[in-house]
Amino acid sequence: METKKRRIVIALGGNALGNTLPEQMAAVKITARAIVDLIEEGCEVVVVHGNGPQVGMINNAMAALTRENPNQPNTPLSVCVAMSQAYIGYDLQNALREELKNRGIEHIPVATMVTQMRVDPEDPAFQNPSKPIGHFMTKEQAEVAEAKYGYIMKEDAGRGYRRVVASPKPAEIIEIGAIRTLVDAGQLVIACGGGGIPVTLKGNHLKGASAVIDKDFASCLLAKELNADCLIILTAVEKVAIRFGKPDQEWLSDLTTDQAKRYVTEGHFAPGSMLPKVQAAIEFAESKPGRTALITLLEKAKDGILGKTGTRIHS
Ligand code: ADP
Ligand code: MG
Repeated sequence: METKKRRIVIALGGNALGNTLPEQMAAVKITARAIVDLIEEGCEVVVVHGNGPQVGMINNAMAALTRENPNQPNTPLSVCVAMSQAYIGYDLQNALREELKNRGIEHIPVATMVTQMRVDPEDPAFQNPSKPIGHFMTKEQAEVAEAKYGYIMKEDAGRGYRRVVASPKPAEIIEIGAIRTLVDAGQLVIACGGGGIPVTLKGNHLKGASAVIDKDFASCLLAKELNADCLIILTAVEKVAIRFGKPDQEWLSDLTTDQAKRYVTEGHFAPGSMLPKVQAAIEFAESKPGRTALITLLEKAKDGILGKTGTRIHS
């Protein structure tokens, strides 16, 4: 009798994908190795990824198209996220397929699920758009964008104006049934890319929202929905630190959710980078007994699940 495999949802950060097309092509090879290492260790893996640079690039390209040809209407951000899921999924699923074959693993199909994420139109994040996206503009260009497209523009640290969008909390994974069916059948699924395509529900209609969802929170929701044993957030640091970047910085290996919450309150984790990861880790670890979260470096994923490194958060 086969023992039940450990189910792991992995969230891939920016360093797993690079910033340009050639960088991504090279990065996914290393990423695929890290993921297939976990499969060889006997884990059942589900992959989520970020899309910051990619969705920015697509958004800029679509904006240039509109500038060139006024008959081309502006591309909604939700469509840009959908494009980024397909583009990243294409590179990732091919790299995974090849790495599996290189190791003689022939029985695991790989697929990317275009995933929509319902968000609450009343989410307070919509009242306070804070996430900068796209290219920098002059004050004049920013005023045109505000008037023409209803964008909200903010000055970004003296570097010019950028569009800011809301980053609401994910409420429901629309394609969860399809994802669960594939995962339960033993397939390797890439889902909720870039945090998912943000949509709001109006009757039976799903409407794209001008927002971006944090992939750390999206992966937490997916891990809960799939009843995963472990949420692994792979990023650019091997461990989480308190007093990060200060002379008395201290790396953390093992944290209870209560300790983690205390460090959150004390402000040890930068908003927009480490804070959402620690918050997602706490939420997952508290959601059911036995669930744990791990934050570590992409290249250390295997050592991480073997308990050799990373920051483990448990209740
Ligand atoms: P990702 O693309 O993986 O989401 P981010 O850049 O958003 O990566 O977040 C990871 C980064 O958070 C790390 O590379 C590190 O520079 C930064 N960081 C902020 N606070 C901390 C902390 N307390 N401990 C460790 N890293 C931290
Ligand atoms: Mg991030």
